[in-house]
Amino acid sequence: MEKIVILTGAGISAESGLGTFRDEGGLWAQHRIEDVATPEGFARDPALVHAFYNARRVQAAQAQPNAAHRALARLQRDWPGEVVIVTQNVDGLHEAGGASGVIHMHGTLAGALCAACGHRWPAPAEMAVDEPCPACAGPTARPDIVWFGEVPYSMDQIYGHLAQADIFAAIGTSGQVYPAAAFVHEAIAAGARTVELNLEPSAGVSSFDETLFGPATQVVPRWVDLLLGQR
Ligand SMILES: [Zn+2]
Repeated sequence: MEKIVILTGAGISAESGLGTFRDEGGLWAQHRIEDVATPEGFARDPALVHAFYNARRVQAAQAQPNAAHRALARLQRDWPGEVVIVTQNVDGLHEAGGASGVIHMHGTLAGALCAACGHRWPAPAEMAVDEPCPACAGPTARPDIVWFGEVPYSMDQIYGHLAQADIFAAIGTSGQVYPAAAFVHEAIAAGARTVELNLEPSAGVSSFDETLFGPATQVVPRWVDLLLGQR
């Protein structure tokens, strides 16, 4: 029973209409990363940061999971071994598409986090600067998002999964952002077969045994069919 570990990035949600900071004209284009996606930016202007994530939360709530999200949920359901999905995405589209146990290494728009005491709770649609933490009552609520310069969540758990992986797939990631860019090397060290599914070759593409290029909604269902067909 082979274990599959899958890392997904912005490329899997792009066809659901959720842009990234690399896209022109999107939400990110109107803001500097330093202002809206760093702890320093939040300390400088929390109202701006909340407004930015409130807008992203609305956008994500309106987005629908696509054929790639649903194909991975099908793989989880039909594969005889374990299928672990690790995502860099802060949207909930894997879960909306039927996946479970998704590890959100960069946090989630659905969550609020107290910067003072570390308490977590479901984010309201609109977060505000003066929103009190339900645990310590401090006015220290922030989006439960891992910002640039912060350590991604669940790294021990992720490395544990990679050490047991028989198959590792990276889907829609740039391959440029560490630590995620190093996951393929961890998987190779564990003896896993590795595959990259991406719109175009990434920076780390030479590390992978196999590559499938094209829109996620096409290549991911095809890859899942292939895996389930070869049993
Ligand atoms: Zn608190």
